[in-house]
Amino acid sequence: MSVNREGVNTLRFKVCTKFLNIGCCLCCSLRLCGVDFTKQKLEPECLFEQEKLNYMVESCIICLGILQVEFITSCVKEFQKNTELSKYDSENIKINVRIPASVQIRERMVVNFLLKQHSSKISLSEFLKNIQSVKTVWKWCLLKLIQRVISKQIKESPLTLDFSILYCNEEKEMNDMFTSFTQAKNCININRKKLRDATKKNISSLIPSMSDEDFQVCFPSLPNKPGKAELSKQMTLKHDSIYIAGRYVKRTRLLCQTPWFINGKTISNDSIQESISTDMKKYTLSDASKFICSGREDVDVRMILNGRPFALELINPKVTKLQIDDLQTFSNNLLKNQKLTIFGNLKIVNKKSLNKLKLGEQSKVKTYRALCFSKQNFDKTTFLEKLTQLEKITINQVTPVRVLHRRSLSTRPRMIYEIRARSPSSQELNKYHTNYNFLPPESRVFIVDIKTQAGTYIKEFINGDFGRTFPSLSDLLNCKLEILALDVTNINLKWP
Ligand SMILES: [Zn+2]
Repeated sequence: MSVNREGVNTLRFKVCTKFLNIGCCLCCSLRLCGVDFTKQKLEPECLFEQEKLNYMVESCIICLGILQVEFITSCVKEFQKNTELSKYDSENIKINVRIPASVQIRERMVVNFLLKQHSSKISLSEFLKNIQSVKTVWKWCLLKLIQRVISKQIKESPLTLDFSILYCNEEKEMNDMFTSFTQAKNCININRKKLRDATKKNISSLIPSMSDEDFQVCFPSLPNKPGKAELSKQMTLKHDSIYIAGRYVKRTRLLCQTPWFINGKTISNDSIQESISTDMKKYTLSDASKFICSGREDVDVRMILNGRPFALELINPKVTKLQIDDLQTFSNNLLKNQKLTIFGNLKIVNKKSLNKLKLGEQSKVKTYRALCFSKQNFDKTTFLEKLTQLEKITINQVTPVRVLHRRSLSTRPRMIYEIRARSPSSQELNKYHTNYNFLPPESRVFIVDIKTQAGTYIKEFINGDFGRTFPSLSDLLNCKLEILALDVTNINLKWP
């Protein structure tokens, strides 16, 4: 042990009773004398007993009462009263604590004052080195006591309790500190940039980084006595989100992907998002949910065959240990509405894997099936042959008229990789026509399967959109074509 360290310890011992005399609580006085609460075999109750018997002060001038029996007991009681906690199925809980910023500054003011009284050569920073902070001791004390009244283990966990202690004079005190700081600015050595950046808001982080000399100039006296009952507490419980992933198959031409709002008014609540999330949200007792999808299809476009990849984020869920059976129940319940089903199985995924959904949105290859008809008579057999012979085509698409209100105006090159065409059977045609009043003659109708680069506007690739997409299928075949119905048949992404 260095001579200096010994000197510090001797001094700490000498001033311990002084701390008590000027209005510090027992815990703070012991802290400042170098007692390590976590290493000693101390029990909070023994400390409280001592405090009650011999060392009662009203509200400690450093910790504002945070480390005193009355406040800590009320915190534990609050914990016992909290009925929210038992709703979470997590076996562990992580506890974060926040204490008022002025506590740290008060501590430095008190120590500074006492050192000056002792005309000590030991510096303020040297004295405060290795001292346990109010936050450390409070956490040690509270966690020990709380662990006895709750069934969850306090350790690293996706379930977090944010425990904040609020001090009603915090703002006023920080303002006063800001004033003394700016008044003393000519006498102190603080660098210009720091001074320029000093605001009332960041003063709490600036003051602790001040040199001892500057601190002594700004804050030469003892902090004022806080009044009784000026602390309050705030507890917030939060569980990390969980993510359920799958692929949905949409069998109707009357369902939006997300709820439909116009000028803040709900036009339709019936959406893919609602259908998928309602059950899961309810079952997991989540606060909210977020639907994350790899792209989207228009209301009148079906998503068939292997479905569209999606994930549902459940925010602050209480029930998190989902079994395969639970996931199966979600899928089965969806089956009842017939418009929407899940392809394959639902799966729990982690947050990181959601990047795949986003990346897939830009790089994937999509396959569409369109029911088209020609506005003029044509020789269908020759026409279909000609269509299938088309090889890789690059097209240029000016933003389509129908999406101009939400997309910027630009020309985008897109690849068409493959086209296959055929005549539909009457049975197939009947199925297609269920949502349409218009029935063109069968001789003019055909089905085309198109494999494209993601982001291609298919409807416009077929009808040309008044020349804004070039070349379109209408241009290539020199025949006016219209689309009757569109389905997405494949999204090439391994998911979930
Ligand atoms: Zn204290």
